[in-house]
Amino acid sequence: MFFRQLFDEESWTFTYLLADEDTHEAVIIDPVLGQMSLYQRLLGEYGLKLKYAVDTHVHADHVTALGALRDEYGVESVHGVGSGAACVSRFIADGEELTFGQYKLQAIATPGHTDDSYSFLMRDGKRTMVFTGDTLLIRGTGRTDFQNGDAGMQYDSLQGKLLTLPDDTIVYPAHDYKGMNESRIGEEKAHNPRLQVADKAAYIALMDSLDLPNPKFMDVAVPANLECGNV
Ligand code: FE
Repeated sequence: MFFRQLFDEESWTFTYLLADEDTHEAVIIDPVLGQMSLYQRLLGEYGLKLKYAVDTHVHADHVTALGALRDEYGVESVHGVGSGAACVSRFIADGEELTFGQYKLQAIATPGHTDDSYSFLMRDGKRTMVFTGDTLLIRGTGRTDFQNGDAGMQYDSLQGKLLTLPDDTIVYPAHDYKGMNESRIGEEKAHNPRLQVADKAAYIALMDSLDLPNPKFMDVAVPANLECGNV
């Protein structure tokens, strides 16, 4: 499988470009508008046929490239059911799959960071990987204090869904702020401080105590992303 983890240094966002090397069909997860030239370059260099552009949720910290990629390549732009971004080509529901070549990306509804947060599961031979958006970060979890976030729902998404995956599942988040680029489900169960709480009430109390400033681009990014980045 063709796999690239790309990084936007302005918003600390990871974007994932995945492709079947036989059919050249490709998927991009969480593309950033300011990095379009990088995506164009890679798609051209490897002769990839981009089929889907997917956002794990409506982002508050960067403008999405979903609209630009649909305009240029005719791809299907995809959000999870419930995002409210009427501009996308398709809403994917929990359990549904996007197929590219021999691979399938399966949506898992994991609300909590936002009410439209989805993770995506993929198998490649013996490897299983999960793209967790801002639901599960490396040694952290996405904030739950805006965009209809809900710490109790996030606890259920983490404990009831993502942490039930096999321990060796590779975790690819939408961001990292501490210099790490991947983890494992078992590693996060053992070492992620947000996952060491006794119960849901303790998790809600922990998330309520964070008192974080708003992302600097939030007032621009959220309305822009509800229009697929076409501003
Ligand atoms: Fe987010």
